[in-house]
Amino acid sequence: MADVPASRDGLYTIKPITGKGRGFVAASKISKGTRILLEVPLLKTPDSTGDISSAETIVLREVKSLTKDQQRAFFALQNVQGRRCTPVLGIVMTNMLPLGASNSGGLFLEASRINHSCQPNAQHAWNDDLGHMTVHALRDIDADHEITISYISGVSIGYAERQRHLMEAFSFACVCELCSLPLTARNDSDYRLDQVRSIEDAATDLDQVLDHPAKSLSQVHQIFELLEVQGICDISIARACFIAFQIAAMVGDKARAKVFAERAYAARKVLAGDDNPTTIEFKHLAERPVDYHLYGKSMKCYDDSWEAPRGICGEDLENWLWSTDEWSRYSSS
Ligand SMILES: [Zn+2]
Repeated sequence: MADVPASRDGLYTIKPITGKGRGFVAASKISKGTRILLEVPLLKTPDSTGDISSAETIVLREVKSLTKDQQRAFFALQNVQGRRCTPVLGIVMTNMLPLGASNSGGLFLEASRINHSCQPNAQHAWNDDLGHMTVHALRDIDADHEITISYISGVSIGYAERQRHLMEAFSFACVCELCSLPLTARNDSDYRLDQVRSIEDAATDLDQVLDHPAKSLSQVHQIFELLEVQGICDISIARACFIAFQIAAMVGDKARAKVFAERAYAARKVLAGDDNPTTIEFKHLAERPVDYHLYGKSMKCYDDSWEAPRGICGEDLENWLWSTDEWSRYSSS
C-alpha cells in the first residue's frame, strides 16, 4: 500500500451546530483543494444491494470484532432509522459513506459527523489505493464556517426530490442555502438542475455521441454555463470535463481531448487529491489522450501530431476549444 499522506491537524473542530447536532467547523481559513480529513473506516459494510438480513449478519460480525472503545464510539453515532431496523443496522444506514463506485460503504467516526448541504463546500472521496476516505475543500472556507459535504453528491436534482430523499434516508428536512431560496429563485434553480441532468444523460449516450459529436460537445458547453450560474463547484465540474474529454477523444481530436483531460484532472485534484486513483488516471489521459479506450471510435479527425494552437489562452482558447466545425467536415466526408 502507498504511503498515506496526513491531513493537516487543527483544520477543524467538531462542535454543536444549531439544529443539526454536532458538525465540522473550520478552525482557521481553509483554502480550496486543501485535504481536510484522511480517515480509515472503522468498519466496512457489504454491498447495499444484497438482502438486509445477510447485511446485518456481516455488520454484527464487524462490530463484535471492534475494541471496547471502538464499540463505544460506534454506539455513540446517530441513528435516525428508529424502529425500522435494529440499532446496529440503523447506525450503519445513518452514517455510511460510499466507498467509490462499488455498492459497499464505510463507517467513519469523524467523516460521518460532517453535516450535509445541497451546495457543499467540501467533497468526500474514497481513495482505494490508500484505503482511506478523504475530504477536500471545494472552495475557500472561512474560519468559524461550517464544513459540509453532500449526502447526494454530484446528483443534479431539484428541491422536492432532494427533500424526499434526505427525509427517507436520513430523516431530516434540509434548510441549506440552496433549499432556503425564495420560491422563484428555487424554481429557477430546479429548472437549471433538471437541464444539467438531462444534458448529461444525452451527452453520455454513446450512440448520440458517435452520430452527433459536435452537438454533444455543444450540449456539454451548456452544462458549464448552467453550473456557473448555479454556483456549483462540486464533482459535477470534473464529470462535465471528463464527458467533454470522452467526446473529443472519440472523434480522435487529440488536441481538444488533451485540454479537457487537463481540466478534468485539475478539477479532480481539488476534490480528491493528487493521489486519488481516478485523479491519477485523468493525469495520464491529459498526458496521453490517445490511450483512452474509446479514442478514435467515431472517426479520426486528426493525426497524432495535432496540437492546440501554440500560445493560445483566455477567450481565444475557449473559442477554439468549443468550435467544432471541423468535426462536421470530417464526418460528412
Ligand atoms: Zn439542501
